[in-house]
Amino acid sequence: MIASHPKRNRLRGRGKGHSVDPVAQAAVLDAISGLPCRRDQLIEYLHRLQDRFGHVAAAHVVALADVLGLAPTEVYEVATFYHHFDVVREGERPPPPLTIRVCDSLSCEVFGADALVQALEGGLGQGVRVQRVSCVGRCDEAPVAVVGQHPVGHATLDSVSNCIEAGTTEPSVPADWIRYKKYCDAGGYTLARRCSEDGGLGDSIIQALESAGLRGLGGAGFPTGRKWRILQQQSAPRLLVVNIDEGEPGTFKDRYYLERDPHRLLEGVLVAAQVIGIDTCYLYVRDEYPGVMAILEAAIAELIAGFEYALPQLHLRRGAGAYICGEESALIESIEGKRGMPRLRPPYLAEVGLFGRPTLEHNCETLYWVREIIERGADWFCGEGRRGRQGLRSFSVSGRVNKPGLHLAPAGISVRELIDEYCGGMLEGHRLYAYFPGGVSGGILPARLADEPLDFDTLAEHGCFIGSAAVIILSDQDRVRSAALNALRFFSRESCGQCTPCRVGCQRVTRLMQAERWNVELLEELATVMEEASICGLGQAAPNPIRCTIRYFPREVGGK
Ligand code: SF4
Repeated sequence: MIASHPKRNRLRGRGKGHSVDPVAQAAVLDAISGLPCRRDQLIEYLHRLQDRFGHVAAAHVVALADVLGLAPTEVYEVATFYHHFDVVREGERPPPPLTIRVCDSLSCEVFGADALVQALEGGLGQGVRVQRVSCVGRCDEAPVAVVGQHPVGHATLDSVSNCIEAGTTEPSVPADWIRYKKYCDAGGYTLARRCSEDGGLGDSIIQALESAGLRGLGGAGFPTGRKWRILQQQSAPRLLVVNIDEGEPGTFKDRYYLERDPHRLLEGVLVAAQVIGIDTCYLYVRDEYPGVMAILEAAIAELIAGFEYALPQLHLRRGAGAYICGEESALIESIEGKRGMPRLRPPYLAEVGLFGRPTLEHNCETLYWVREIIERGADWFCGEGRRGRQGLRSFSVSGRVNKPGLHLAPAGISVRELIDEYCGGMLEGHRLYAYFPGGVSGGILPARLADEPLDFDTLAEHGCFIGSAAVIILSDQDRVRSAALNALRFFSRESCGQCTPCRVGCQRVTRLMQAERWNVELLEELATVMEEASICGLGQAAPNPIRCTIRYFPREVGGK
């Protein structure tokens, strides 16, 4: 508790040149009461202030720095890094009480986000602000607006206005998610119990994951079994971090699974913790998913109440609106209460991760599959797949198809098959023109390559990758150059700014891409610098949409 923390008085008064406003100090202490007094809680403290006051005032920043014994600039740089904190400087007006966030990432733009923003800006009354934001993870319901914390799919001025009039601003939490009892009645937590009873099961579990070929499903595709073995060899204490910060435009698979079956993820967490020997786990949930946060809070409480064996400590952490925190090392910085800036590697997180400890970091979906694979066997998982590929992939499909949504399909399926067999075909009057196979980072392919197998490694020769399997379908009514520009605007907004090739590169190419005729030579040069000299995957992959547009759609950019 803040009031009784022994370090508090010792830490006080270090901030130089800023006097602490006693009123702001009292407000801060009240807002953060009940939380431990630690630097890594800084983002949660800022959330408490934002939630209570609708913004974070400059005086709060100074008072918070005083509580933590930090320089005010350290708190300020964290608060201003994240999109969801409104830092209000002295003399500035706080934002209106209600914010409507309108996603303007690719799928929403395709379905009229620009017109929606204009309609909302002109049609809503006082006390409301309209903000353009990056992907909110509901691309299958595009365009999407979020009223307070309440998502409105297929949003219109009328539906948003109705929501405001009804005062519906709370998160949407599906009532039918699978509760602990129902999950256990269907065999859930049997594997976790077996692991608790028999410490010798670990090797057979890792072998099964290796035989199944399970790979990291957040996009990187690192073999799961090998990752677990590497962690086993590190010194204790080891930590586990679950990445539930899917911010890649087009991706919504983790939200889909967690809104339905959160205990399946938690069982994967327990099994990994048992096999590797981990007693502290962090689950980092993007702030765009308050409904998932509520479900996980409830599911963890159920697990603690119902599970008869010792559990690892399970900490839920809330992001604050920053795509880059989906990058594994940036996420760890964020859990530590810092700006989400990717780390230089080596050392790798398996050796020096969260709080300097060896850390196993997994995308949510990777752990979600652990129970199923162990229970049904590696052969079952391997038996799925087409064109020589093995396993199942959770495709988040959006864009010009009849049935956008989450489609579990064999690895190696082609986009044409995905559209025809799973998505009910193209929308009436639309013909397949192009597709993003892996979110906006994964590049763009033309319809003539619609029979390529979608899986890890299969698209590299075409300058693309599958990433988190977010497939965005464009039709003959769309322009690829506009889609590529949307992607680069997104990267510009979400670059953490740490390295020049990415920070300046994204801005420069975004400007160049607005010319009717692209300066292809200069764009290629910038793309090469970004790809080769950026620290992390954001800057390295940002040129993909540009290069694909030049390569596959030259006529759109003034070429032949
Ligand atoms: Fe940050 Fe971009 Fe550099 Fe990554 S590549 S560290 S996002 S500036």
